[in-house]
Amino acid sequence: MKFNVVCRALRLAASITIGIAAPGTGEAHGSRMTDARVLDGTKIANEIKAEVAAEVKLLAGQGIRPGLAAVLVGNVPASQIYVRSKVKTCAELGLFSELITPPDTVTTEEMLELVASLNAREDIDGILIQLPLPPQVNAKLLLEAVSPAKDVDGFHPVNVGKVQSGQPALAPCTPAGMIQILKRSGLPIAGQNAVVIGRSDIVGKPIAMLLLQENATVTICHSKTHNLAGHARGADILVAAIGRAGFVTPDMVKPGATILDVGINRITEHEEFDKFFAGDVRREELFLLKGSTLIGDVHPAAYAVSGAYTPVPGGVGPLTIALLMSNTVRAAKLRRGLPV
Ligand code: NAP
Repeated sequence: MKFNVVCRALRLAASITIGIAAPGTGEAHGSRMTDARVLDGTKIANEIKAEVAAEVKLLAGQGIRPGLAAVLVGNVPASQIYVRSKVKTCAELGLFSELITPPDTVTTEEMLELVASLNAREDIDGILIQLPLPPQVNAKLLLEAVSPAKDVDGFHPVNVGKVQSGQPALAPCTPAGMIQILKRSGLPIAGQNAVVIGRSDIVGKPIAMLLLQENATVTICHSKTHNLAGHARGADILVAAIGRAGFVTPDMVKPGATILDVGINRITEHEEFDKFFAGDVRREELFLLKGSTLIGDVHPAAYAVSGAYTPVPGGVGPLTIALLMSNTVRAAKLRRGLPV
């Protein structure tokens, strides 16, 4: 079985080397060629991280070292990867960080005590509680116990309210990163019709609010929306934050629109792979070797209709950690009354 898979991958690899563009079709064997611009999230995240590192150096001159406490409960493998990479990035940029790992039997009361102690610590500017938490822990109570001044995830109702009323605040990292992608790519926001599909507290609602503050005309769609495709087709900026593989199809995209694809969905079945990526030889080779591939909430064929889009992976994803670092420095400055 494994041997067959490897043989198929090798045959595919060989076919890449002889693949040539089909004349007049605008397509190469194995990969679609479009004029749509790819918005490189990794590059933008690296720019932001470099700026954060420079700011950390400046603050060091004033005797300030921004610090992040990362709380990781239990042994969820994906959470371990995320948190390790956050702690590693802190070290790379010169921030102080502390990893705290309570067991998955921890109680709400014990977690509240931990948060209270972190709220009181002078060397901690940001508190990150990695989700999901075990079922016995009251996540809502806990997130609201984090001091709003140290709420670098931007989930506390005080920060939600401040973002809404345009006051200096800590905005949620992923949506704040999406605004950076648009701005740093020179894409207009003011006056544009922005349609956000998804209304979660961590992505949909905050990105809608941030786009509104940048003077876009914003529509929020969700599972009860009538004529969602019609709304989407009117979007100059289309945000897909749903959590459903390839949900946005080409007929839902206005030609030339900007797509911000937030979804991260893993495909493991070959049938599903073919539904989205048939003919993408390079991706199929990797799929066969790894047994899975990632896809956003937007069908790859819909990217081709757009003017610019964030790919998955490598689009919105990398901005989240960069903005977490930036929020920690921002929290350090706001807490000390320094200009931000
Ligand atoms: P979520 O909390 O599950 O919310 C999903 C939203 O999509 C809900 O508002 C839901 O509507 C809406 N929805 C679901 N099915 C729909 C349908 N058929 N038609 C219209 N709307 C529909 O998800 P989330 O936390 O916002 O995350 C969304 C995606 O983004 C996920 O794939 C997640 O992995 C990804 N994500 C990526 C990053 C990153 O790149 N760093 C960060 C966060 C999330 P209702 O409210 O009506 O149920």
